[in-house]
Amino acid sequence: MKNLRNISTKTFLLLGGMVLGLTGCTEDDNTIDQGEPVITSQSLKMDLSQFKRDDSGVFMQAFYWDVEPKGGWYDQVSSQVEDWANSGINRIWLPAPGKGASGGDSMGYDPMDYFDVGEFSQRGDSNVETRFGSRSELENLINLSHQNGIEVIADIVMGHNSGGGLQTNPFRGGDEVYSLFDETNGNASGKFNRTNEHFHPNDIHQEDEQDEFFAETDLCHDQQYVQDWLWGRDDSVAAFYKNTLGFDGWRFDYVKSFGPQWVKAWNDKIGGFSVGENFDGNQQVLKDWVDASGSPAFDFACFYRLDETLDRAQDLTALGEAGNMLRKLDPSNAVTFTANHDTEKNPNPDDRISYANKLLAYSYILTHDGYPTVFYLDYQAFKGQLKTLIEIYNTLAVGDIEIIEASKDEYIMKRGGNGDNPGLILYMNISNQTKQFDVTTNWANKTLVDYTDNSRATPTTDANGNTTIYAPAGSYSIWSVTK
Ligand code: ZN
Ligand code: ZN
Repeated sequence: MKNLRNISTKTFLLLGGMVLGLTGCTEDDNTIDQGEPVITSQSLKMDLSQFKRDDSGVFMQAFYWDVEPKGGWYDQVSSQVEDWANSGINRIWLPAPGKGASGGDSMGYDPMDYFDVGEFSQRGDSNVETRFGSRSELENLINLSHQNGIEVIADIVMGHNSGGGLQTNPFRGGDEVYSLFDETNGNASGKFNRTNEHFHPNDIHQEDEQDEFFAETDLCHDQQYVQDWLWGRDDSVAAFYKNTLGFDGWRFDYVKSFGPQWVKAWNDKIGGFSVGENFDGNQQVLKDWVDASGSPAFDFACFYRLDETLDRAQDLTALGEAGNMLRKLDPSNAVTFTANHDTEKNPNPDDRISYANKLLAYSYILTHDGYPTVFYLDYQAFKGQLKTLIEIYNTLAVGDIEIIEASKDEYIMKRGGNGDNPGLILYMNISNQTKQFDVTTNWANKTLVDYTDNSRATPTTDANGNTTIYAPAGSYSIWSVTK
């Protein structure tokens, strides 16, 4: 499963790297000599809560690969949702709730019994819990999240199945295939029992012309029976998750393995927040999928542009180029992120953003448009800084985006604000020296402060809004007016 994902992105990454190599430049004329003026800035800051938007909020991926303790993850998350809500998180993404073929070890991507969310003993495993806990622990977590104003998003793995019983498959010339799912073969719930005709090939067609991870048990969504059980019936998987368990929306796993029309059909029937994992660094592939499915998608193009510019090319120029991310093409359907459970366990550094550059990447996604995701382990590692960035996203990160500078070492971007909201200016600096830059702001005769505290300067603007801003070496600053 993971190998196939890597192949599909690698080709594009090589191309992206070559483009960056051609556009790089080495000018270094903004390095300052004497250091920035230092004045205490803390007491000058506005209370940002006055700018909190009605539609504000940040997504949290509330797990990582191989979470521990087994059977205790839901309780672990429950102990943190109040803190996350106070930080400005408005949705959390939980692992796939159903029972996987590897039982209490499963991370959920080997779906077997969608209706066993931790209440049946299966395949000789006396422990009824999933890796994440019991059904009641899941329901407690969902209730607690709702009490804290947080929506809960289920990971939906519907491209393939695992863990069924062997049966002779007439569509495969009588070969034996693990395609039997019933009460004694990996489906103790007895709901959505499956047999060989529900997988490819079958009496409808050979395949669905999408990626196939598990060729023998690649689910066929053209089968009415499969549609009915996944989302159509009153007691479908989707209805059970939403109406009985209380999930509010969906994160669709590996949508390259089935047609976008099935995500659309699910959402049309059941509703709720939706985001698709289209594992592809090409923004147009993402945009085409968004248009066909009607669902937002994770912005893998943004993720790879950040990894290329920060880690590999060490050249921020490409951040200023038009159209090279989903969020630049379609911000309202772009779910941005800097890490997920796959990237963080990937041994290839070209497929993840280094810890040294992680906060720079977050400073980007938490000031631009798009719906940003915070990864569980990153929140643990950078809690203070991320709380600040989330607060800035939820308040000052509004209005038109204007890129002031995008060069090798520096990226400077202005959000125009609206009404009483003054907006912000982001200044990223990946060089090993403090930098300064002369900018024209929207703010006349104002004193500015860096709301991240990375720079302690307090520059003032002239009557035309002109001033000089600063960013420390290998860091960022986010400027707005003082009170
Ligand atoms: Zn099919
Ligand atoms: Zn990297």
